[in-house]
Amino acid sequence: MLALLSRKWTTLSTKNLQQTSKLVTISSRSRLVGRGLSGGAETLAKERVDTVVIGAGVVGLAVARELSLRGREVLILDAASTFGSVTSSRNSEVVHAGIYYPPNSLKAKFCVRGRELLYKYCSEHEISHKKIGKLIVATGSSEIPKLDLLMHLGTQNRVSGLRMLEGFEAMRMEPELRCVKALLSTESGILDTHSFMLSLVGEAENSRAIFSYNTVVLSGFVEGEKLHLVVAETRAIESRIELVPNLVVNSAGLGAQALAKRFNGLDHRFIPSSHYARGCYFTLSGTKSPPFSQLVYPIPEEGGLGVHVTLDLNGVVKFGPDVEWIECTDDQSSFLNKFDYRVNPQRAEKFYPEIRKYYPELKDGSLEPGYLGIRPKLTGPKQPPADFVIQGEETHGVPGLVNLFGIESPGLTSSLAIAEHIANKFLR
Ligand SMILES: Cc1cc2nc3c(=O)[nH]c(=O)nc-3n(C[C@H](O)[C@H](O)[C@H](O)COP(=O)(O)OP(=O)(O)OC[C@H]3O[C@@H](n4cnc5c(N)ncnc54)[C@H](O)[C@@H]3O)c2cc1C
Repeated sequence: MLALLSRKWTTLSTKNLQQTSKLVTISSRSRLVGRGLSGGAETLAKERVDTVVIGAGVVGLAVARELSLRGREVLILDAASTFGSVTSSRNSEVVHAGIYYPPNSLKAKFCVRGRELLYKYCSEHEISHKKIGKLIVATGSSEIPKLDLLMHLGTQNRVSGLRMLEGFEAMRMEPELRCVKALLSTESGILDTHSFMLSLVGEAENSRAIFSYNTVVLSGFVEGEKLHLVVAETRAIESRIELVPNLVVNSAGLGAQALAKRFNGLDHRFIPSSHYARGCYFTLSGTKSPPFSQLVYPIPEEGGLGVHVTLDLNGVVKFGPDVEWIECTDDQSSFLNKFDYRVNPQRAEKFYPEIRKYYPELKDGSLEPGYLGIRPKLTGPKQPPADFVIQGEETHGVPGLVNLFGIESPGLTSSLAIAEHIANKFLR
């Protein structure tokens, strides 16, 4: 098994080298570690490592980069065959300003700080991005108090560039738009998420982090003041090895709670319940140019930000995501991402009336099924939204374990700030 893992580390590092050719020079140490492990006998079931990050989504990647830049030897494990293949590649790719979240919440704090860090990172690393701005729109007078509340929240969260517009001002900016009032956020934008993640991989590898894909963490147990991890190849979970890290960051997204429940010695009282809400997108077809030049969001709905207009950097117009609560799959299938990601074309019927409230000229038959993402939520329907949860030993008592739960939107925007927080708080 170790031989297999080590071969994979070497192979995958080489693969990343090709993917990130501009950014990465693979370190000789990565190769040495690979060889060192493969040199060990198959019977060597236990391996000491410094830091393990579980999950190579955008948050795990940002954490791995930050920890490796600060001198830690980081091993990143992901059950999938490459980085960012789950929620991190199934979202709106919007850089959020930080308006919606309760003041002093982690979401507010990390979104505002993360946005600053993200724009700076994108500029410095030549990652495509654009501060295109966003309008949150009230389409009837009953929605105006909600817009005022958003303005108030944004101001409390110290979001700059917010301005309340009369309907005619917003419609002058966006002639296809219909609204009675709008909140303009000039700090909101879009980015090329894949390039961002690729760059994080490259920087982490340059700082000697090692990636092992197709590698699933099945469980763990506390022994000798450390959390031991039981790890296997995703396609051969019966043959396992044990890793003994000093620090473990559980950034397993949709699978974070299911995995934490399998850490023997971690009190289940500290593991919040999981709820999943699908959000699907439809793309706009049959128009020569995008109807809007900036992001357009309705007033938020329960569980999501409302079926909004997103543009990507290629000018593709997407509408979504909606909210569809699904049964909790809080077991091993969440590690292996066995969710149904098919977009049901019938859902378009609900999209048309929602979108026409602010875009009345939307033509029949112009919505094509796009893609779908699943929100890792900590509260269910009719419950108030929850904050991000980041727990270390000070909360749950397990040495060297950091659990990240409920990293839904604005997790992409917040990723660099979450990484900064983890490094500042948990590195000794
Ligand atoms: C519909 C939708 C729209 C969104 N829009 C935005 C937006 O516009 N802006 C924004 O800021 N945020 C947005 N978000 C939120 C953002 O996408 C997420 O917060 C972010 O991608 C979470 O990243 P992650 O690394 O925590 O999780 P993931 O990307 O899910 O990565 C977790 C990784 O862990 C791996 N894994 C799981 N279990 C195991 C295991 N046991 N062993 C090994 N590996 C394991 C998985 O294979 C996966 O690769 C949106 C989310 C959704 C669902």
